[in-house]
Amino acid sequence: MFDYLIVGAGFAGSVLAERLATVANKKVLIIDKRNHIAGNAYDHYDDAGILVHKYGPHIFHTNSKDVFDYLSLYTEWRNYQHRVLACVDGQMFQMPINLNTINAMYGLNLNSDQLEDFFASRAEKVKEVRTSEDVVVSKVGRELYEKFFKGYTKKQWDLDPSELHASVTARVPTRTNKDDRYFTDTYQAMPLHGYTRMFEKMLNHPNIKIMLNTDYKEVMNEISYKKLIFTGPVDEYFDYRFGKLPYRSINFKFETLDQEKFQETGTINYPNDYGFTRITEFKYLSGQKNPKTSIVYEFPTADGDPYYPIPKADNAELYKKYQTLADQLENTYFVGRLATYKYYNMDQVVAQSLATFKKIQRETLDLVADENADLR
Ligand code: FAD
Ligand code: UDP
Repeated sequence: MFDYLIVGAGFAGSVLAERLATVANKKVLIIDKRNHIAGNAYDHYDDAGILVHKYGPHIFHTNSKDVFDYLSLYTEWRNYQHRVLACVDGQMFQMPINLNTINAMYGLNLNSDQLEDFFASRAEKVKEVRTSEDVVVSKVGRELYEKFFKGYTKKQWDLDPSELHASVTARVPTRTNKDDRYFTDTYQAMPLHGYTRMFEKMLNHPNIKIMLNTDYKEVMNEISYKKLIFTGPVDEYFDYRFGKLPYRSINFKFETLDQEKFQETGTINYPNDYGFTRITEFKYLSGQKNPKTSIVYEFPTADGDPYYPIPKADNAELYKKYQTLADQLENTYFVGRLATYKYYNMDQVVAQSLATFKKIQRETLDLVADENADLR
């Protein structure tokens, strides 16, 4: 009898397996339908010996010391600050939009104060910032919105930014200084030997059994367990009772080239041309030296593995119905990007999983207290 059955060996499932096994001394079975652990963060060495990410580039960044310290139990780090260029009108510009972007694009020599005025003169008045269009046009105006955001967003989500929640484009800020890093978080680093190695160490514990190539539905009735942690798609768990929750998928096209370098920075975004959104060159992320180089193109698509929950009002409504069902179940926890239908980064999923572990611990303590009360 297992204390916990955990469905999904990505960040959500693996963090909880690790905490329950090491801190609470629980017996855990973690299963995944894929043939590997690490979920969408899975990485491996390709034929050229370059560390590539099977499900697209994963760059770790967080402001949470707790999350960083926790993962540091299982990995050393390589400092890495991601930089992105956007290819607009055939030229490369720093992205997020910053002082260098604007000066280069318009042949100007503005300082930060002047750039504030420049943005203010172009910004559109928006009563209430609700959509992903509002976020951008209310800051930098329509022209820059159309050059950098409208086309990319349409490709990525097959939606106009006006149909998406503000939080989507708000992930990419606008700056008036020259900071050209994609993220400004306190901690920015890549696991020194990759994500998969980190997950192997997290799950390497006598209390944890791993079962791969297994869909939970095939084995649910054969395994005896006390509690369930589910990190797959929440609508799938409930047999799509209220209809399917929409997810966006991506086709990844990997190439290894007989040249040392392909592009000038880790990722180049192509907002307006081609079917792909961006190209990432993995050697920037891993810091490896190699006479060859490996890159990945991302082609967004409606069909395929569910990668992105789509932040949109009607989807949020539909998710709420599933959440209500999920909340009613006893001894069952829904955690992670798919199970809580949230566009979460890796660090947010780790934080959510650590919080769930604390909640489980509290519930167990309450239970023990109740039992003791009964005895008295
Ligand atoms: P997942 O990693 O999806 O794990 C869920 C697991 O459950 C999967 O392995 C799946 O196979 C398994 N599963 C599902 N259904 C079943 C079933 N029926 N039976 C058995 N197993 C099942 N985050 C960042 O912080 N930085 C980035 O740069 C970044 N880049 C990203 C790029 C792309 C293209 C994508 C798609 C995501 C990116 N993310 C990034 C987000 C990151 O991938 C997620 O935050 C994180 O991996 C979510 O972990 P999870 O455990 O919730 O889900
Ligand atoms: N985005 C854009 N142009 C860009 C980069 C991002 O329009 O050059 C928008 C787009 O809608 C994208 C969102 O901002 O989906 C979030 O971008 P991010 O780079 O965080 O996407 P992720 O890495 O999660 O795919």
